[in-house]
Amino acid sequence: MSRLLNGLGVSAGSAAGPSARLGTPPRLPDLEPAVADARAEADRAVAALDAVAEFLRGRAAAASGQAAEILAAEAMMAGDPALAGQVRGLAGAGRPAAWAVSEALAGYRAMLTAAGGYLAERAADLDDIADRAVALLLGEPMPGVPAPGHPFVLLAAELAPADTATLDPAAVLAIVTERGGPTSHTAILAKTLGIPAVVACPGATAVADGTMVAVDGSAGTVIVEPTAAQVEQAARREAARVTRLAAARGPGRTSDGHPVTLLANVGGPGDVPAAIAAGAEGIGLLRTEFLFLDRRDEPSGGEQRASYAEILAGMAGRKVVVRTLDAGADKPLAFASQQAEPNPALGIRGLRLDGLHPALLDTQLEALALAAKDTGAEVWVMAPMVSTPAEAAAFSDRVRGHGLPVAGVMIEVPAAALRAGQIMSQVDFVSIGTNDLSQYTFAADRQAGPLAALLDPWQPALLELIAMTAAAGRAAGKPVGVCGEAASDPLLAVVLAGLGVTSLSMAAPSLAEVRAALAGHTLARCRAAAEAALAADTAVAARAAARAAAAG
Ligand code: PEP
Ligand code: MG
Repeated sequence: MSRLLNGLGVSAGSAAGPSARLGTPPRLPDLEPAVADARAEADRAVAALDAVAEFLRGRAAAASGQAAEILAAEAMMAGDPALAGQVRGLAGAGRPAAWAVSEALAGYRAMLTAAGGYLAERAADLDDIADRAVALLLGEPMPGVPAPGHPFVLLAAELAPADTATLDPAAVLAIVTERGGPTSHTAILAKTLGIPAVVACPGATAVADGTMVAVDGSAGTVIVEPTAAQVEQAARREAARVTRLAAARGPGRTSDGHPVTLLANVGGPGDVPAAIAAGAEGIGLLRTEFLFLDRRDEPSGGEQRASYAEILAGMAGRKVVVRTLDAGADKPLAFASQQAEPNPALGIRGLRLDGLHPALLDTQLEALALAAKDTGAEVWVMAPMVSTPAEAAAFSDRVRGHGLPVAGVMIEVPAAALRAGQIMSQVDFVSIGTNDLSQYTFAADRQAGPLAALLDPWQPALLELIAMTAAAGRAAGKPVGVCGEAASDPLLAVVLAGLGVTSLSMAAPSLAEVRAALAGHTLARCRAAAEAALAADTAVAARAAARAAAAG
């Protein structure tokens, strides 16, 4: 019997296939079983560690860059002869294999943690090795992304960045999570990879592995055990979507020619080919964190210059908006660690980190200026987490001081939207980060699934702040972009154009949907949709009112 689960569609597209759940870490049973053959038990324990080392080596070979390095280092730890010796000793003394592995790794873990610094950070790798080896020994599924050997729909409570570092987009047909909101890591990742996704979908992890599911990432629905007709319908819907998207080409514009520049969000050099292939007119948000996170030391100016130049050269002839480092809160930096903060999202993050480590920003700006010279690219630079016109002015001075001609800021804090006019007089452009602007406007953690309704980008209060910012841009004759996830919702893109937003930046796979939506409406219709959404009382009503007004 087919049954329906409802969630929030965050990445468009339909797909059907067998489900597989993200593995959770195993737990050793309370009762330790007796061991009959200590020697055989020791062999079993060491064989499990070898199998984990082999598995990790395979993953390292399939990954690239930092992820490959981390996985290769972890594989070496798992295969370390000293660890095998310890495990053999414990098992030989009568401990069951899973307990011997767990205890030996716990010992190493305590040593690393006591050493502090970089070594302490590697403690999580030991936990991962222990979890994997213990799962093998207990006959449980390996934690992390499953590898059933065929394409599958991934079901999880929530995905963490570590779970997805080696996720193979060719194998994952769709993603469904129980938690997460429209701006969660899962949503951003799924859009980046062009995988249909539904988040905030209760009941997803109760579906047994191997069950057929049909996911609609636009409608936010998951049919468990769909009928053949329902699977066929999903395939037809997907084919129609692909055909419709292929029909819209060229730069972003409404049907009567009003331009809305369509740009790509890029998180590293690997995203550039997809941006070009999707016809992005440039990069609207280069998240530079890829160079900094997971690093023991600050990347040198030379390394940064080469990395930025690679991206700029790849986008030759197109504008690239680079965001300076947005560390802190959910993205801590090992080499610029802050004191533990009770409220990291309200603490020293983004541009605020400059107060503690001014050299970080100067090195980055200098590397960017050199990369811009190396490539002749059109580089715009903007700062994250700006709250006041004074911060905007100071940032603009720093950018220009490094010879970079175009400086802007992100509007992510309600205070900045309220004073957009004053901020606009200090900078050349602004870009609205709706993910954080939602979080701070509604005092709702952007990762919190239960608060997904507050984080809905259709919330009229959020639209009001966007409207204010766009009006300030129009008055100043300066560009106002949107680079948060809101930009990738096709109907909302129509509303944003109607509010006066001049560019929309999103993960490359979303560009075609948004281009087609803009091309299907006149500017007057976009404005009518915007007015209707602003006049609504709730996010749900705003969406419905905009849809009706856009249809005319
Ligand atoms: C945003 O906050 O909307 C944004 C684009 O920045 P990030 O998601 O990287 O915080
Ligand atoms: Mg942000």
